[in-house]
Amino acid sequence: MAILKVLSVPDPRLKIKAQPIEKVDLPARRLMDDLLETMYATEGVGLAATQVGIHQRIIVVDGSETDKPAPLKLANPELLWISEESALMPEACLSIPGQYADVQRFTRIKFRYLDEHNAMIEREASGLLAQVIQHEIDHLNGILFIDRLSSLKRDILLRKAIKMGKTGKT
Ligand SMILES: [Zn+2]
Repeated sequence: MAILKVLSVPDPRLKIKAQPIEKVDLPARRLMDDLLETMYATEGVGLAATQVGIHQRIIVVDGSETDKPAPLKLANPELLWISEESALMPEACLSIPGQYADVQRFTRIKFRYLDEHNAMIEREASGLLAQVIQHEIDHLNGILFIDRLSSLKRDILLRKAIKMGKTGKT
């Protein structure tokens, strides 16, 4: 396993749409493990392959709301159903150093993905896990959480994040 370098704004690679993978093979499993190690090392709750410059539809998340870790490795994740209700939830991103904002997210989702054994899994999620999955699928589509804010707010957070990234503070 290895800790990978996480890209930060305004890196244009964060805007590239990731491609589905054919199956979860050994290289895909290695990438999942590296993403997970990088996510835990940076105290994130989710990380998409896009954020390390690899444009494959692979994400890792840990939506555990207790002390017990609950890592999930997902290839080709997709939303099958979204709740009518949505809520403003506070969000941050490893690619946008030091910035936070409330983002509108669906409160419950059903989703499908290939797990690390290439098995097709369908699950439901609510709360933090639902929020993180939506955030990470956005990354695979080249969308950052600041893209879901007003353009004024987005520009302010983007400028601050770039400044912070340059001074090395996060
Ligand atoms: Zn993010």
